[in-house]
Amino acid sequence: MTFKELGLAEPILKALKEENYTNPTPIQEQSIPILLQGKDLLGVAQTGTGKTAAFGIPILHHLYQGISLRQNKRKVKALIVTPTRELAIQIGESFTAYGKYTGLKNTVIFGGVKQAKQVNELRAGVDILIATPGRLLDLMNQGFISFRDLKFVVLDEADQMLDMGFIHDIKKIIAKLPPKRQSLFFSATMPKTIVELSRKILGDFERVTIKPRQATAEKVEQGVYFVSKANKTNLLVYLLEKRPNDSVLVFSRTKHGANKIVKKLGQANISSAAIHGNKSQTARQKALGAFKDGALKVLVATDIAARGIDVDDLALVINFDLPNVSETYVHRIGRTGRANASGIALSFCMAEERPYLRDIEKLINQQVPRLGEHPFMDELSEQETTPRRPTGRSKNSNSNKSSNSSRNSNRNRNRNRNRNKNRNTNSGSSTKKD
Ligand code: AMP
Repeated sequence: MTFKELGLAEPILKALKEENYTNPTPIQEQSIPILLQGKDLLGVAQTGTGKTAAFGIPILHHLYQGISLRQNKRKVKALIVTPTRELAIQIGESFTAYGKYTGLKNTVIFGGVKQAKQVNELRAGVDILIATPGRLLDLMNQGFISFRDLKFVVLDEADQMLDMGFIHDIKKIIAKLPPKRQSLFFSATMPKTIVELSRKILGDFERVTIKPRQATAEKVEQGVYFVSKANKTNLLVYLLEKRPNDSVLVFSRTKHGANKIVKKLGQANISSAAIHGNKSQTARQKALGAFKDGALKVLVATDIAARGIDVDDLALVINFDLPNVSETYVHRIGRTGRANASGIALSFCMAEERPYLRDIEKLINQQVPRLGEHPFMDELSEQETTPRRPTGRSKNSNSNKSSNSSRNSNRNRNRNRNRNKNRNTNSGSSTKKD
């Protein structure tokens, strides 16, 4: 199927061509026809699947075709609510790209910065508003936004908005929207609270599901290293030194942990920056901008800050810590291998993280390949790495005797080297909590 066959307006087709989008992704192929018919939609999908274009293109098409720009020119006709500033900015960029030739204007509003510029943009008039919930409600309450002309609402990453405690804000926002509208609701997971929320928002809807398994298994090459906590940084430095020209996104479970990784990388002469909730918006945007441009090769992020980050040519994602919520793993590795690209996701797993790995494998319905040896093996990682795994699971497992023996001698060599290294660099840190 091509975009042309979907019957989209010419200016949108022209813009998509410039973006080098030739064929719709599965979520686009399934959602766009439903949305062009004016129906509500429940999309179970995460970022990285082409979700933004799946909702953005039909909205632009409707606004361009059906609504007289002269009559309600620059009145908010479409609202997209999304959890983080980064996602909001990214969605704004996508609308600008896909709507380049439509004459429609979008603006993005989010918290953490002064409101004056955003208020001025709203006063000047916009057709499409992209917003995070807190600032949106704030500006609504101050009387800067009218939804009288609203025809489309999108709730993006609903489960994350719920996790971030935005549920009440969302309900208040929805209550202020005209009942006659087309509603779109996207969530990566569908726990009970999300199902209930979707029922409140959607009318008669159609459902489209893009399983995480498709995103992970088909496009991203995955692997896990068993490594002790004390050796995680050494292994990270080792892997980064092997790929000095690649853009690498490193995930840390905590903000403090992210700062610590940046510091340790600095000591190894690898420049990196951290993005997380304690960094100012300016610092976050600066780091993200440098990373997207390729000026900064290593970005260390927590999940909230990184969700939905879209970086062209992101070669590698490293899970420095395994997430305790399995779906987060899918979100993380979805940062690489986006749309039609392929990517690599490596995870570090220490003994305490084994249960997380098991849960992840259950969710994605596959075993994450064990990567075996690395120069920072210690007793713990060896126990985990040495094949003692369930019968015949991995074809790639180390079944070859001769390679095992050479590996063993390497292992001993490495072990000695690491002991020395640990003594120098990691003394006492193995039991300290992040
Ligand atoms: P999203 O899930 O919306 O964040 O999109 C993930 C990435 O896929 C972004 O880099 C998009 O630019 C890209 N993308 C979306 N749709 C297509 C398409 N049909 N063909 C090629 N790339 C696409």
